[in-house]
Amino acid sequence: MNGAIIKHMQTDMTHDLECINQYTRRPFTAQEVYTFSVVLCDNEIDRDFERFSVEALHTLSQLFLGKTGIFDHNMKTSNQAARIYDTALETVKDKMTSYGEPYTRVVAKAYLPRCEKNTDLIMEIESGMKKEVSVGCAVAERICSVCGANQALAPCSHKQGKSYGKNGTKEVCHIILNQPTDAYEWSFVAVPAQREAGVIKMFGKTKGGMTVEQMIEKMKEAEDGLFLSREEISKMLSHLKEMEEYAACGKAYREEVSRNVVKLCGLAQPQISSEVMKRVTEGMSLEDLKVFEKAFRLKAEEVMPLSPQLAVTKGTENKKSSQNQAFKI
Ligand SMILES: [Zn+2]
Repeated sequence: MNGAIIKHMQTDMTHDLECINQYTRRPFTAQEVYTFSVVLCDNEIDRDFERFSVEALHTLSQLFLGKTGIFDHNMKTSNQAARIYDTALETVKDKMTSYGEPYTRVVAKAYLPRCEKNTDLIMEIESGMKKEVSVGCAVAERICSVCGANQALAPCSHKQGKSYGKNGTKEVCHIILNQPTDAYEWSFVAVPAQREAGVIKMFGKTKGGMTVEQMIEKMKEAEDGLFLSREEISKMLSHLKEMEEYAACGKAYREEVSRNVVKLCGLAQPQISSEVMKRVTEGMSLEDLKVFEKAFRLKAEEVMPLSPQLAVTKGTENKKSSQNQAFKI
């Protein structure tokens, strides 16, 4: 499950300090701490076709209180961690989940001591360098959205990601994660800079999302469409761009072979007009074009040895040269 840093807090610092100081050995002043907000998790269905129930989010918001988050690229400095000192469940106005419930997320406030070793980190957060938050937790119940069976006790045969008819409508089968029993550490994961700040990665258990190959596989399997993250979309778009470039090369090559076929046909089979041959090549596959090119070239070589002809220098064989002009390619 992933969230993201959303924004810097503009809240009641006195209240925040009270919360923070529950976790510190001595009382900290407002100048000594740096605070920021992160989205820990939400109730949207993720890539693994799992989602938290709102009830589970409530529990998680309590379980994550006091938990420290580490910065993945700074594992060496183990002291460099932020601690969650306040959490809240937030329902985002006018935003619905893919299955039609109001979109709800756990927003946590975290603090870092403002000390020298944290300066760079604070700068990174401050400068808007994007980070995602990845959280780990344990749940007691894993409920099938179609039949309600708890997979932890009695697995059913419904397949996650597959659509089933339910109450006259179709529903994508997913697992509802319920009754969290424990919340583990949370961590910051650096994400590519093009991601927008504040975007909550809904389907991101794997860093960076699906590969192009995985997306293509999913597309083949998808019965009801496919959700792609912003990151995956840009990955797919750059793949398509690359493919377009390859296609342009292939097209240029095909055109070149077609032109050769038409020209060589003029030598090998002069009774076929170039207009006719040109039309014929348009409907031919590249493989067929290559066969024709080779055959016409051999025939043309018989009729008119091409290499010596092309090697003829101006003025040496003027007469022959002028006769052959029409056949030069
Ligand atoms: Zn089921």
